[in-house]
Amino acid sequence: METGTVGYICTAAEHPARSAPSGTGLTVNQGKWAFCPAGETGGHLWSAVDGASLDELARAAATAARASEAATG
Ligand SMILES: [Zn+2]
Repeated sequence: METGTVGYICTAAEHPARSAPSGTGLTVNQGKWAFCPAGETGGHLWSAVDGASLDELARAAATAARASEAATG
């Protein structure tokens, strides 16, 4: 298994990006790393991505979480 690249990202509507402690949200799906931006442990809806870097995904999730927090106050 490669490290550093992610094969799946969670797109479940119930799992929006939020400010989770770094290092959470990473799990394994079908032998590849899978990232949930909500940091949930179950109920994911995995979408395949083409070797995205975890760093990139975590940064995007953090940005989305900040935007959503700003919108909801
Ligand atoms: Zn999820």
